[in-house]
Amino acid sequence: MTSTGQARRTGSTEPVWWGWGPASAHEPLPDEVRGLLARLGIPARPTAPVPLDQVRLPPARLPVAAREALATIVGSGHVHTHDEARIRHCRGRSTTDLLRLRAGDAGAAPDAVVLPADHDEVLAVLRLASRERIVVVPFGGGTSVVGGLEPARPAERPVVALDLARLDALGRVDRESGTAELGAGLRGPRAEALLAEHGLSLGHVPQSWEYATIGGFAATRSSGQASAGYGRFDELVVGLRVATPVGSWELGRAPASAAGPDLRELLLGSEGAFGVITQVVARVRPLPARRIFEGWSVPDFATGTRLLRTLAAGDLRPTVCRLSDETETVGGLARPPRPGGPAAATGSGSGTDLADGLTGGCHLVTGYEGAAPAVERRAAEVAGVLLAGGARRLDAAAGPDWERGRFRAPYLRDALLDQGIFAETLETAGFWATLPALYAGVRAALIGSLGAAQLSPVVMCHISHLYATGASLYFTVVCAQGVDPIGSWRAAKTAAGDAIVAAGGTITHHHAVGTEHRPWLDAEIGGLGVDVLRAVKRTLDPAGILNPGILVA
Ligand SMILES: Cc1cc2nc3c(=O)[nH]c(=O)nc-3n(C[C@H](O)[C@H](O)[C@H](O)COP(=O)(O)OP(=O)(O)OC[C@H]3O[C@@H](n4cnc5c(N)ncnc54)[C@H](O)[C@@H]3O)c2cc1C
Repeated sequence: MTSTGQARRTGSTEPVWWGWGPASAHEPLPDEVRGLLARLGIPARPTAPVPLDQVRLPPARLPVAAREALATIVGSGHVHTHDEARIRHCRGRSTTDLLRLRAGDAGAAPDAVVLPADHDEVLAVLRLASRERIVVVPFGGGTSVVGGLEPARPAERPVVALDLARLDALGRVDRESGTAELGAGLRGPRAEALLAEHGLSLGHVPQSWEYATIGGFAATRSSGQASAGYGRFDELVVGLRVATPVGSWELGRAPASAAGPDLRELLLGSEGAFGVITQVVARVRPLPARRIFEGWSVPDFATGTRLLRTLAAGDLRPTVCRLSDETETVGGLARPPRPGGPAAATGSGSGTDLADGLTGGCHLVTGYEGAAPAVERRAAEVAGVLLAGGARRLDAAAGPDWERGRFRAPYLRDALLDQGIFAETLETAGFWATLPALYAGVRAALIGSLGAAQLSPVVMCHISHLYATGASLYFTVVCAQGVDPIGSWRAAKTAAGDAIVAAGGTITHHHAVGTEHRPWLDAEIGGLGVDVLRAVKRTLDPAGILNPGILVA
């Protein structure tokens, strides 16, 4: 294992097995959030995760001969069958994943965790697994929120998690073309640190950036907080190296090509069902010389949405752009508290009661990164559009406050779960013309379903990814857990999924399909589309060892 891979497994940034981030970064639920939830009728009920040694997992069932064959490929120190490794690779990091883990349920644990060192070892593992009919689950950062790491577990077939942590090298950097070869197992911070040594940056910062990996970004078509400016991860991918059960595949030999359909698109978003991405050649940019973050208040969500549409249509997108709806503006739960300040601060006042705040305007964050003159020019142009449209500039701290706390939400979720309070997100996207109906439909579905279960839901939303033709909607739900939080959320998610399809949105803008969104995939891509995916699966993975049931049923 390289020193980085080693540090990933032993360093102090390693997350707790039942939640997000290292234990040292965990904080109790801020009093202001507690107070706000109490006012909303969402009761706290302290709930600790069970101790690690009380987690229940099925007996490991990898045959000795298969274990030895795997050890011959990757080295015996890189095949783990001990409980903690299996628990840590059990599933992803959705709230229902965490609820099951915290309750001691690791029923989806793989039988072994295998850590290959390079592309050839991945190929050899896939060949062996095809021969022995072992299920292989490619594992990046383990941050999936759609059941992407929990494939079908056929009774007679062992399951191996293929952890790509050791594929963590920065390869060739082509400064002239602005590209870099990035190992699939590199986590976000490490990838940026390695690129920074060359004065370069990828600029892909999803909220899961601390733990998610380059291969995972590509396999799920991830979108980051700065994707409005830099583009989604799939737009940053120039080339891919993929190990499949039937051989190696390299894609992307020129910046653009007319040599038939772009087959990179078949691998982007393939969620480990077609092959294992071992390396990504990505577009990189010079490290930004200037960064500006600003906070705004717009009269209401509808006005803010129209302003964003004007910016996008005029090709005036900031690098970062996030418009909160009235509830998210006031609830502020999706944003961390200002240091020493109230959790519910809106920028235009603080400690506001949720209901009062619904007429108090909506919070908008804009951010700009790049060369100094270009950034300042863009910020001024955007400000012109916003001010003309009725926006009001907030105090100078509002933008930097958001930036400082941009990765805190999953820590806040752990603190909420510690108090027995449910918090989860879902996302979609639609064209500008359909966005208001999509917003209203999903919101009503979530409130209707969770409200009927008497769980006092607070449903918040923001727009954070802009396109010339539309935008994404990102919903955060906070509610009481009740007696069956997993069942209640499944019902709410089903209602929301149906509402998304009815309103013409996509079932997922950036979280991917996994098992959770699979029921709506046919409606989105059509039966013929599903058949095409099945045909690709049969060609690349004839023994069906890769993530069975994920993406392709
Ligand atoms: C708190 C939180 C915040 C999040 N915020 C965002 C966000 O802002 N934007 C966003 O886009 N997503 C977000 N996500 C979702 C998740 O982080 C992304 O889907 C991410 O891209 C997954 O990367 P990963 O390395 O963790 O992949 P994993 O979770 O390990 O895997 C995801 C899927 O891809 C497959 N896979 C992983 N690596 C490879 C590989 N090298 N080759 C082939 N298949 C592979 C897996 O088998 C699985 O099906 C968030 C998740 C959490 C928990």
